[in-house]
Formats: sequence, C-alpha cells, structure tokens
Amino acid sequence: MEIIRKDESTWIIEDTGVRVFILKGKEKTAVIDTGMNLKDLKDIVSGLTDQPLILLNTHADRDHIGCNDEFDEVSIGIHELQHYQKNGFSQKITALYENDEIDLGERKLIVVDLSGHTPGSIGFYDPDRKILISGDPIQKDGRVYMFGEQRSLTGYIASLERLQKRKDDFKEIWPSHALLPLDSGSIGKCLEDAKDICRGALDYERTEMHGMTVRAYKGKENIYLCDDR
Ligand SMILES: [Zn+2]
Repeated sequence: MEIIRKDESTWIIEDTGVRVFILKGKEKTAVIDTGMNLKDLKDIVSGLTDQPLILLNTHADRDHIGCNDEFDEVSIGIHELQHYQKNGFSQKITALYENDEIDLGERKLIVVDLSGHTPGSIGFYDPDRKILISGDPIQKDGRVYMFGEQRSLTGYIASLERLQKRKDDFKEIWPSHALLPLDSGSIGKCLEDAKDICRGALDYERTEMHGMTVRAYKGKENIYLCDDR
C-alpha cells in the first residue's frame, strides 16, 4: 500500500492495482471506493483526518468495495443499487443521481453519470480543482471490463458521448486503475475505441476471465474485455 498526497487535502491510496481517493473539505472527508485487499481502511484514513467520513462508491465491482463493511452508510449511483445489494452488506444506502452535489464544507463533489461499465457507474467531479474521479470507464493503458450481463457497450458509448461534450471542464481525470492523471483527451480516445469495437473495426484475441471466454480488444487507449458473441 502507498499513500500519495496530491495536495494539502487530497490523498490517493494505491493498493494491489486499485485506488482509494480521500478528499477532505472543511467539515467532512469523502472516501471514494475502498479497494480490494486493504484492511482497516478507516484506521488508515484516521491517520490523515479526524473529520467525519462519507463513503462514496464509483461502482460496486468487487475491487472497489473491499472495506465497505467498515462503514455504516454508503452513497452509490441509483442504477448501481441492485449490483451493490448482491454483496449482502447491511448498511444504510443512499442513492446518488446525476448532478447531485456532495457538500464537504467549502469543497463540493458533483455526481457524473458514467453508466455502461456497470449499470450505475458514476464519477465524482471536484469543480474547484477541475478533477474528475472516473472509476473504471476512462483509463489509459488499462483493462476495461465490458463482459457479463450487467455491462453495456452501447450505454458506455452514450456516457462517453455526453462527457465528451463537456471535456473542457476536466483539467485532469483520475481513474481507479492504470495511469494517473489523464488529460481529457482520454475521453475521446476511449469513445473511439468503443465505437470501433461496435463496428467490428478492432482486432481481438480470445482469453479466459473468471471461467468465461471473453474477447480482449486492443484499442488505442486500453484493452477492452467484451463478451464473446
Ligand atoms: Zn475496477
């Protein structure tokens, strides 16, 4: 595990290939995702701040919710609830909607719809810093999981189209995996890749993932793991 201090009130915890983001306001601190193999995340965060913590999730894939059971409450995208509840956590769940604002005290985060990778994938936009915390949908030199029932390549394209129209809002994009930071040019490159997959313009190799045969498409920006059909 490595804790990287990005500024006086922003940290990234890197562990086994996935990130946790700690964003401190004047009154509260947001914990975005809880990693995969971390233990005692709350203890780790208490070394950075003694403020009350708010747990936010970009989405409910297993590598992002490893320490969620340490928290009594979680906020997650409205369309992610079903996917999240499969995990059997018993805490209070608050649904987040596009453009919802999370007030940390003189620092706010705005919810951005990034559905497609999962039904309710969301990002968190810090407008003062012009940073988008993007979860898995936007990466560079990463692997974007797009196989299995709950994922939608066309939904992913629609989300990226919406985001591309406002790309100048984002000075930096901070994904959960692979390179960080990205510039907003990655949005258009991921979008082109996804469209190329849809129209059969990208080469792929078949590979085994979690007992399934999937297609690994080699795009300009990432490898995209898609259903074999
Ligand atoms: Zn992930």
